Amino acid sequence: MMYRIAWIPGDGIGPEISDAAIKFLEALQKRFSLNLDISSYQAGDSCKARFGVALPKETIEGVKNSDAAVKGPVGESAADVIVRLRQMLDLYANVRPAKSYANLPYLKDIDLVIVRENTEDLYVGKEFEVNGGAVALRVITEKASKRIAKVAAEIALSRRKKVTIVHKANVMRKTCGLFAKSVRGELAKYPELSVNEVYVDAASMMLIRNPEVFDVIVTTNLFGDILSDEAAQVAGGLGMAASANIGTSKALFEPVHGSAPDIAGKGIANPYSMILSCKMMFEWLSNKQNDKDLSKVASFIEQVCVKALSNGVKTPDLAGGFTTDQVAEKLCSLVFMK
Ligand code: ATP
Repeated sequence: MMYRIAWIPGDGIGPEISDAAIKFLEALQKRFSLNLDISSYQAGDSCKARFGVALPKETIEGVKNSDAAVKGPVGESAADVIVRLRQMLDLYANVRPAKSYANLPYLKDIDLVIVRENTEDLYVGKEFEVNGGAVALRVITEKASKRIAKVAAEIALSRRKKVTIVHKANVMRKTCGLFAKSVRGELAKYPELSVNEVYVDAASMMLIRNPEVFDVIVTTNLFGDILSDEAAQVAGGLGMAASANIGTSKALFEPVHGSAPDIAGKGIANPYSMILSCKMMFEWLSNKQNDKDLSKVASFIEQVCVKALSNGVKTPDLAGGFTTDQVAEKLCSLVFMK
């Protein structure tokens, strides 16, 4: 079956890790006779500088008409690109796994998934200046809280069957109160799950002290954004962190990290984040299209990455000595060796 993939390279290190991921996908296409029709679209700071707009109509149409989209990081225009795409396509679930693979400089051996509500909270972008101060609107609804709870429950069922609801309802009684109550109610429909609740400040401490207690964390947009960067660092670094933005019919996959302007153009960006985002894309497409072969491709991608990492195929952020291109070359050669 043919799959149309909308591909947005992004800014900073985006084009570098994109090139590496595309080379890897080409190798996979050969090995597994995949039929991926990948079309490239512009978005982000460099797009805005060239065309005056960070998210052009053609890019929106390209993403809408694709079977799945993959996006590199964008710089200062992130709110105009990814936040808009999430709202426009109602990509309400942000799924961010944090897994420490062997031979990574991880702080703790962890394997957890953060499921972050992706459309509400302080990220609705309603901020006002009022009499010399500034006010931001925090939006939480029962509907969005319940549907993110359902996603967390389904992921937990395929894992260690534990969900931790992270909030701060002791202080934000209305907003976090509603989130906690709605999620709790939804999760009660899954008796096979073990469910607990942790305040966000305690959760951030536990992610460093005893992260093995977590299996699936479900939380609000801002808390999830912050905790997932922390979890990524505990697992070995942002350069390994992949994510999925999932809606009812559409999904977009992207690294957790930003455009990393400090290392852009140096050829040392870690491409695993983008490649593992592609793995998540194959998993999602496999479920959505009921295409079992794609689930095999997703597992294979992880096996290749594990093998490469254990062979020391790592960029400097992982205490390795490989360039982005060299990592891509090694991964491609492993595709054919297995
Ligand atoms: P943003 O505001 O867009 O999140 P930022 O610079 O604050 O941008 P990141 O771009 O995520 O945050 O980068 C944080 C740090 O992690 C930087 O030192 C960056 O070089 C490093 N980093 C992020 N992604 C990678 C990667 N793929 N490979 C190597 N280092 C990375």
